[in-house]
This record gives sequence, C-alpha cells and structure tokens, in this order.
Amino acid sequence: MLPNSNKKTVLDPFGASEVADYERLYKEFGIDPFEPLLSKVPNPSFYMRRGIIFGHRDFNRILNAIHKHEEFAVLSGIKPTGEFHLGTLMTAKEIIYFQQQGAQTFYCIADIEAYEDNNVSFEKSERIAVDNVADLLALGLDPKRTYIYRQSEEIRVKDLAIIFGRPVTLATMKAIYGERHIGLYLSALIQAGDILLPQLEDFGGPKPTIIPVGVDQDPHIRFTRDLAQKFHRKYKFILPSSTYHKLMKGLDGSPKMSKRQMNYFTLHDSPETIAKRISNSFTGGRATVKEQQELGGIPEICPVYEICLFHFIKDNDKITRIYHDCKTGRLLCGEHKKQTIERVLEFVKEHRRKKKKFMDKAQEILQLKYEREKTKK
Ligand code: SF4
Repeated sequence: MLPNSNKKTVLDPFGASEVADYERLYKEFGIDPFEPLLSKVPNPSFYMRRGIIFGHRDFNRILNAIHKHEEFAVLSGIKPTGEFHLGTLMTAKEIIYFQQQGAQTFYCIADIEAYEDNNVSFEKSERIAVDNVADLLALGLDPKRTYIYRQSEEIRVKDLAIIFGRPVTLATMKAIYGERHIGLYLSALIQAGDILLPQLEDFGGPKPTIIPVGVDQDPHIRFTRDLAQKFHRKYKFILPSSTYHKLMKGLDGSPKMSKRQMNYFTLHDSPETIAKRISNSFTGGRATVKEQQELGGIPEICPVYEICLFHFIKDNDKITRIYHDCKTGRLLCGEHKKQTIERVLEFVKEHRRKKKKFMDKAQEILQLKYEREKTKK
C-alpha cells in the first residue's frame, strides 16, 4: 500500500486507485471542495454543476484570470495506450471547456508514460495518438488554438525533467509513488515538465495554469507544485491549479475502469460489444424483480446509472427522475440497460461519423510536428 493511502483511500496514478469517500480527501489530502466556488464560475461546466468535479487546488487563481480576462492556460493529455473510453472522454470534455473559456491550450500525448507504465512502444503509441487526436477534434477541440505534442518529441519537457531531477531524492519518490522502477519515476518528472511547459518563456512566460484531472492523478499535481516552488527563483513559476473529477466505476462494479480487468468499453468497440458489455454490467439492482419492485435499486453503486449521470443524460430533471424511479423500484435494470445501450450507441455512431472527417487532420497535426522538429535538428 502506498504511503499516501489508507484502508479505503488510494490515490495512485500508476496503479489501482480507490476512493470510498470523497469528503475524506479534503481533510486527508488537503484538496479543497469545489462546491463553494460554483456560484463564482461564470459559465460552469456540466461536470461542475453535477458535482462530478468535486475538488480543486488553487482554482481561485483561474477564476480570477477568467473574471479579469487575463491570460491563463489549460493542460491535459492522454496516455496513448488505446482507444477513447468514457474516462478519457471526461478529460477531453474538460480541456475543451477551458479552451472555450479562453485558455491557451496544451494537449500532451504521454507516450513516455505509456512506454514506462504500460510497455507500449513508441511506434505503436504514435498510431494510437493519431486516433486519439481525431477523437479530440471530433469532440470540438480547436486545433488552431492548441499546442498538441508528444512527450518524446518535446525537448523542452525533457529538459525540464532533467533539471527537476536534481533536488528530488529516491526517498521523496517512494513517499509519493511507492516503490516503482526508475522509468516510472522518470515519467513523473516528465509529467512535471508537461504541467509547467505552458509557463516557459516560449509560451509567454508564467501564468495561471489549470490541470483538470481525475483525482487519482493528484500525486502528480502535488509533486509538480512542490517542484514549481523549488524552481520559482529560476523560472518564476506560478503554482499550477487543478480540478478533480470523481473516478468512473468499472462495469463490473470495481472502483475504477481498468484495462487489465477489461471492465469498460471504448468508443470504437463494435455496437455488439458495447451492447454486450452494458447488458452484462453489474448494477445496483436486487436479486429478483419482485425484490427490486419492493425495495428499489441502489443507483449510488450502479455503473449503468453512472454512465447516464456522467455522460449521456444532460437534462437534470430526467436524471433525477431515473434516480427516483430506481430508488422506488419503478425502473428495472433490464429496461434501464436497454435505454442506456440505445443512448450510448446513438452517441458513438455520431461521434464516429464526425471523427472520420478528422483523421487526416490529426495525422497532419502530428506529422507536421515531427517534420518541424526534424528540420530543427
Ligand atoms: S434500475 Fe438502473 S440505476 Fe437502478 S440499479 Fe438498475 S441499472 Fe442501476
């Protein structure tokens, strides 16, 4: 167990995280609750309004920049190990939201982490990255206002990682990340480089930067904030801010979606696979129809309810009705799964149609980048 964990709370960006009670993170990890800030956000996102974004560090700094129309940045990324799923979809929507609020936008393809953590070769992750970028464009990211890069190609990020490594001891890394191989410690330093990249002079110098992530990534944020402080004199870094969203459960009811357990679907699985995975999903339902009608279901532990809440039902009255109908036994799992499959497949069909149009553009964005870098060398 990691040193930053206890019996029911594990925040591990390289492993299985588990959060039994989000409230406890405020006290135990020093994360601030997001709810008190909600009324001050000019145009709160869907995730903020639903309480799915539940915590933050220094989000006031971003709010200030938005209110005063000052420069700020957003950075997010993806580990190119596979196709988009509902977890990566959340982060993508968050970065697009901040871009729409005026943020200078950075999107990192974390191919070094994919290699170190998942043993995905750079050649393979390059192909996956093109696909991931097409997903992002289809979802609405404006490529003209985004710096999209691969970690392995971005020399400034690697330089920062080398510089940041000097004051960091093995004991510090073990305290934050537990006992890991050196490659993972290296990828943590690289991620610190990613997070602070928008504040380099090449991108206009120090500025408030928001990192919207799942709460399992908090160790990276704390580590980077510590480095930003250590290197303040040299770079004048402003401590990066973060928002934290809740983690989506696996379809088997486990606390997090996991590739090892294959307890989720991707946006590019066949309609049959998606339908089958949702049909076979764990639910908060009872053992028999009769029991469910009498006692009601438990939406709080149900991944099918969560799919609707996090992604597919935008209308608040509708989601409240589903919650209520489940609780009172009026809605049964079979029927709810059927409705959910229809909603998911409709979205996926439309998303794929849009995405097809962006494949060439995604290729072009990443290719142009490589060619530009090669010419420099
Ligand atoms: S009715 Fe829906 S929300 Fe309720 S337990 Fe069944 S699948 Fe989950």
